[in-house]
Amino acid sequence: MADLTMTIDGLAVCGKASLGVTNPATGKIFAHVPECSRDQLDTAMHAAARAFPAWRTDEGTRREALGACAEVLKSCAAELAETLTREQGKPQARATEEIMGAAVWFAHTASLEFPAEVLQDTPEGRIEVRRRPLGVVAAITPWNYPVLLAVWKIAPALLAGNTVVVKPSPFTPLATLKLGELLRDVLPPGVLNVVSGGDELGAWMTSHPVPRKISFTGSVETGKKVAWSAAPDLKRVTLELGGNDPAIVLPDVDPAAVAKDLFWGAFTNSGQVCSAIKRLYVHESQYTPLLEELAILAEAARMGDGFEPDVELGPLNNRPQFERVIELVDDARQGGAQIAAGGKPRAGEGYFYEPTVVGEIAEGTRLVDEEQFGPALPVLRYRDVDEALERANATHFGLSGSVWSGDVDRATEVASRLECGTAWVNQHLAIVPFAPFGGAKWSGIGVENGPWGLLGFTEIQTVNVRRRFDG
Ligand code: NAD
Repeated sequence: MADLTMTIDGLAVCGKASLGVTNPATGKIFAHVPECSRDQLDTAMHAAARAFPAWRTDEGTRREALGACAEVLKSCAAELAETLTREQGKPQARATEEIMGAAVWFAHTASLEFPAEVLQDTPEGRIEVRRRPLGVVAAITPWNYPVLLAVWKIAPALLAGNTVVVKPSPFTPLATLKLGELLRDVLPPGVLNVVSGGDELGAWMTSHPVPRKISFTGSVETGKKVAWSAAPDLKRVTLELGGNDPAIVLPDVDPAAVAKDLFWGAFTNSGQVCSAIKRLYVHESQYTPLLEELAILAEAARMGDGFEPDVELGPLNNRPQFERVIELVDDARQGGAQIAAGGKPRAGEGYFYEPTVVGEIAEGTRLVDEEQFGPALPVLRYRDVDEALERANATHFGLSGSVWSGDVDRATEVASRLECGTAWVNQHLAIVPFAPFGGAKWSGIGVENGPWGLLGFTEIQTVNVRRRFDG
């Protein structure tokens, strides 16, 4: 494929060095991207700072620009999706959904309003709460949904009047670089800068003096480093971090009726979703039939190169993640768990791991306690719902969770006791642009999406006007 460039101050910029990008379906490097130097990052940050004063002035222009970004994404969806499948591994249909989803996010964000909050308006005075942009936003993204998660940051940051420097994961830089190239004609120079490089580039961004806000999506471990690095300069941070989502299936549920939705709640994107089901709690009365249903679905799922027709599951994105899933399932097996389906890598090239369902497993096993972020679902047995809730909540993670039952009121009550940012009932992974999304506990700080996410890219200014002098 043609070499992609960084976008700095509206210009195409090559690197002095380059990084290889691997196709996870083959395990082979197929493209190279620029490795941003410290000087180039500096140029990008200063370009963003120079673009800020003009960009912040006219909200109408910004709304129009976001609408235009949505149109560009729609018209280039096929090209972007192909790049995404090649670097990320997901099936082409899912890659297209990600790009179209990003277009929807741009369009929806363009329609958001800033609240007009007048607290007092009397002959004596007026107190108004206004929202001001922060300045330059440094945005850092992971490799599971590179384009969508970048747009979750870029769109609200820009609407609020900030300018942006975005850095994708070194495992999936291509589609984001392409996005930068495509938006060069839509956004003024410096408003959106896209740089590529390794993890150290992220660290340079978070410690750089220019950005006033870091918007980060990634692992808990890196999130803590980001918070640490942002602290001396009191940069604002939004952290969207890992999860170990529980799903609790109540005893009244018919296993055959829910198995498919539970399966895709866990295995979408080969389990590489921050808020996928990562621990499934099933009442003992339904345990064996549900485990069997899930195993049948896992064995039937079509896994392969994302470009093959009808493929449902692609490979894991990268070798470290592939090796991690192998390690966690082997550890569970050695600990006496029952491998009900899958349980090993697929023979041949690429990072393919069979969709795996693991039964007779409990807390204290790494596959349950840690975020596996892959296609291996532990299914845990419980006796009563309070016990299941206690076990589900006994973790530092708190991204999302779900409860499944024919009795929606009962399920809603149980779901409200989950200690997490999003509690679903009879569904999982239902994420929409108009609802806030974020993590409790170690799963994050702040939220993205909707007006709540937008306001995270602003700071409050209270304008307090005294109208008369009366001695
Ligand atoms: P990661 O933390 O390894 O990397 C994320 C990004 O941070 C990458 O761009 C990386 O280059 C960069 N980075 C690495 N070290 C850095 C440092 N010291 N300073 C600044 N940036 C640095 O995560 P990953 O493996 O790419 O992604 C998987 C993780 O992301 C999982 O834990 C998953 O749950 C989480 N995630 C969370 C959400 C959410 O919305 N909560 C969404 C998707 C993924």
